[in-house]
Amino acid sequence: MTLTFAQLNLREELLAALQNQGYSTPTPIQAQAIGPALKGRDILGLAQTGTGKTAAFSLPLLHMLAEGERPGRAPRALVLAPTRELAMQILESLRAYGKKLKLHTVLVVGGTSQERQVNDLKRGVDIVIATPGRLEDLQQQRLIDLRHVKHFVLDEADRMLDIGFHPAIKRIAASLPKERQTLFFSATMPAQVADLAKSLLEHPVRIEVTPESTPVERIAQQVIMVPGGEKRQVLVDLLAQPDFSRTIVFSRTKHGADKIARILTRAGMKVGVMHGRKSQNARQAALGDFERGKLAVLVATDIAARGIDVDDISHVVNFDLPHEPETYVHRIGRTARAGKNGIAISLCDNGEDKKLLQQIEKLTRLKLAVGQRPPACGFVVTSGSAQMDDEPRSEQRPRRSQGQKSSRPQNKNKSKDVPGSDSKPAKRQSWQKRKRIALGKGQPEPR
Ligand code: AMP
Repeated sequence: MTLTFAQLNLREELLAALQNQGYSTPTPIQAQAIGPALKGRDILGLAQTGTGKTAAFSLPLLHMLAEGERPGRAPRALVLAPTRELAMQILESLRAYGKKLKLHTVLVVGGTSQERQVNDLKRGVDIVIATPGRLEDLQQQRLIDLRHVKHFVLDEADRMLDIGFHPAIKRIAASLPKERQTLFFSATMPAQVADLAKSLLEHPVRIEVTPESTPVERIAQQVIMVPGGEKRQVLVDLLAQPDFSRTIVFSRTKHGADKIARILTRAGMKVGVMHGRKSQNARQAALGDFERGKLAVLVATDIAARGIDVDDISHVVNFDLPHEPETYVHRIGRTARAGKNGIAISLCDNGEDKKLLQQIEKLTRLKLAVGQRPPACGFVVTSGSAQMDDEPRSEQRPRRSQGQKSSRPQNKNKSKDVPGSDSKPAKRQSWQKRKRIALGKGQPEPR
C-alpha cells in the first residue's frame, strides 16, 4: 500500500501546504527519511536532485521547529548548500511548505547585501539557509549566533567538497552544538564524502534512492571521438542540427565555458553561460531565459549547473569529460527529467578524456556507443579559434544563411575541406571589433 503524507504524522499545516503543491504521495526518499527524521535520528541520504530530497528534510525540519520552543532570536536550524541557486531553491521550498507556520527563514549567501541579512537575523530567525563563504564571514564578524542550532542539514555534500568547502564545513560543524540532529545528503559517495559523513553523523539511518528511473535507462548516451582541436567544430555542427532544441553544454572550466559560448554565439546561436564567476543576477537571468526558451543553449560548468531543474532539455553535450565519474552521471541527469527521454553526447579526445571515459564506463557499467561526427553545418570554426583570446580569426556562416564570398578566409587550405566554407559572416564585423569581442571587451555577456 502506498504511504500517504498523513501517515507520516506531519502537522496539519504541512499537509495542507503539500496538498496545495499538488503532492499526493511521498517520493521514496520522503517516505524513508521523514519518519526517522521526526524521531530525531541522523540521516545519511544518497539522493540526487529530482528525487524530492528537499522536501525530505524540509518537512520534518519545519514540523520539529513548529513543535519546539524558540530560545530567543538565534536560529535553531542551519541548512548548508553549495551554491546560491540551490540555497534559494531550498528557501522557496521551506517557505512554500511552511506557509502556515510562524517560522522565519533567512538566506545567508554571498553576492547580495550583508546588511539586509544581518538585519533579518536580528529580527529573529528559526532557519538559516546558507552557503559556507558568507556564513563564515558573518561568524567571523560575530554577526550570527549558531549556539542554539539543534538541526543541521548539509545538502549536496559531494558538490561542497568539489568546490573546496571541506575545511569550511569542518569549521562550521565544529562551531555547532554537539547535541544536534544532522541530516546529510549527497548525490554520490566518494571516499572523502563518506569520511565527512562519518565525522558528522551519529548512528545515521542510511537511505539510498535512485531517481524514478536511473538516467542510464532513459538517456541515449553516446561518445564521439574527436581530437581536442576539432571539438569546437564538432560542437557547432552538432548544435546546428534541428533536434537540439534545448541543450546544456558542459565545460570543465569557466574560461572554457566562456570560449565555447563566444564561438556558438558567433555561429548565430542563442547562448547563455553559467559559471561561478558570473554574478548571481547574470546566472539567474541566463537560467530564466533558458527555461523560457529564449536561449537554445546553456553553457555551464559543473558548479553552476548543480540543481538546474529545467524540463525538456533535449540534449546534454559534454564538451570535455569531468574528472569525477560521478559528475558525469549528474551532468547527463539534466536531461530525461520528469519521465522524458534524453540524449547525452560526450566529445572525447585521445588524451585525458579517454582515461576519464574509462572511469565513467566502469562506474556506470556501460560501454558508451561510439557515434559519428555530425555533418558539417557550414559554419567553419577555423584553427585560429583555438587561440581566440590572442589573435584574430575568421569564421564563416553556414552556406544556407549567406551566399557571398568571404573576403577574409584565414586558413584557406583548411576551409577547403569543409562544406560551405566559401560563405562569409552574415554581419561583417571589423577585424578590430572581432578582436575586441574575442578579448571579451566590446560585447555584453552572451545570454
Ligand atoms: P528535489 O529533489 O528536492 O529537487 O525535488 C524535485 C522536484 O520534485 C521538485 O520540483 C519538487 O517540487 C518535486 N516534488 C517533491 N516532492 C514531491 C512529491 N511528493 N510529489 C510530487 N512532486 C514532488
